[in-house]
Amino acid sequence: MSKSLRLSEKWFHRGLWLVALVFASFLIGLGGTVVDDLPKVEKQLQLSDFMDKTASEALRNTIKASDKAVKEAGDVLEQSQLKLSVARADTVAARETFNNWLATRRVTQQADQDAELISRTQALDALKAKERAAGGTVEAQQQLILNAQQASQRAQIFLGEQEQAAQKKLDSESRQLELRVFLYRLALTLPLLAIAGWLFVKKRKGTYWPFVWGFIFFALFAFFVELVPYLPSYGGYVRYVVGIIITVLVGRQAIVSLNRYLEKQKLAEQLPDVQRREELSYDTALTRLSKAVCPGCERAVDLKNPEIDFCPHCGISLFDHCTPCNARKSAFSKFCHVCGTNAIKNIAA
Ligand SMILES: [Zn+2]
Ligand SMILES: [Zn+2]
Repeated sequence: MSKSLRLSEKWFHRGLWLVALVFASFLIGLGGTVVDDLPKVEKQLQLSDFMDKTASEALRNTIKASDKAVKEAGDVLEQSQLKLSVARADTVAARETFNNWLATRRVTQQADQDAELISRTQALDALKAKERAAGGTVEAQQQLILNAQQASQRAQIFLGEQEQAAQKKLDSESRQLELRVFLYRLALTLPLLAIAGWLFVKKRKGTYWPFVWGFIFFALFAFFVELVPYLPSYGGYVRYVVGIIITVLVGRQAIVSLNRYLEKQKLAEQLPDVQRREELSYDTALTRLSKAVCPGCERAVDLKNPEIDFCPHCGISLFDHCTPCNARKSAFSKFCHVCGTNAIKNIAA
């Protein structure tokens, strides 16, 4: 995976990265299929799993029947209230007529009208009795509604208590299930992560690097998609603690690597000029020069200044002179750009 400057090699590299991505996507697909075919431990739990089915069913039926009774009695009540008001109006009208008749009778003092007085009084009593009966029907319906409402409330309270108890059991069972699912997924993902870590450390620069990187992508995908979302939360504690631990580990590794790099760089800068140049790959040196940094110590250097032949920071030779023609040329060029003499052979000689 050296930084090549050859055009075709660059495009080959891009193609190989594509190979790595395609390889990773097929591995992810295969992994997903394998996980789908494994026996399922992730059964969805429900509240009804923890309730006495017959008892809760009976309570629900009671509530339903009571609500229906309330509605029916309400309809009948409306009808009887209407009948009651009609009966009341009838009584009021009849009483008014009777009172008028009575007043007339007192004035005329006709004794032969006593029989009519009796029949009129009886008719009025009958109307009053009808009104009373209608009132009784209304009260009976109101009683029915009250009974049904109270029965429904009692059943609801009882059902609520049962549901609360079931919810507690469901919560504890769900936590255990969550943990089981996580451990099961960890058992599948951990070996992949271990292999990916080993490949990253040992093989990421090898000949078959596209496959190595493809596998590393696959393992990372498995970690972030198949494992992290199933981490039990315990109110967020586990997630944050795991996040802190991983950040500390990664950060520590980065700090160690930085120090190791600086140490290596310091040692390299103490070596003789020729040996340092031999250890630098040609392409790496050219890439660094194209970015206007010293190939030896990676610090910025003004390469356009014709006065500067050596890096002012580490002392490595940046420009030298061709032995046969004495032209000033880059110390990293393999051939003199004026006379074409092989510069490396010349140094060795
Ligand atoms: Zn330097
Ligand atoms: Zn020359």
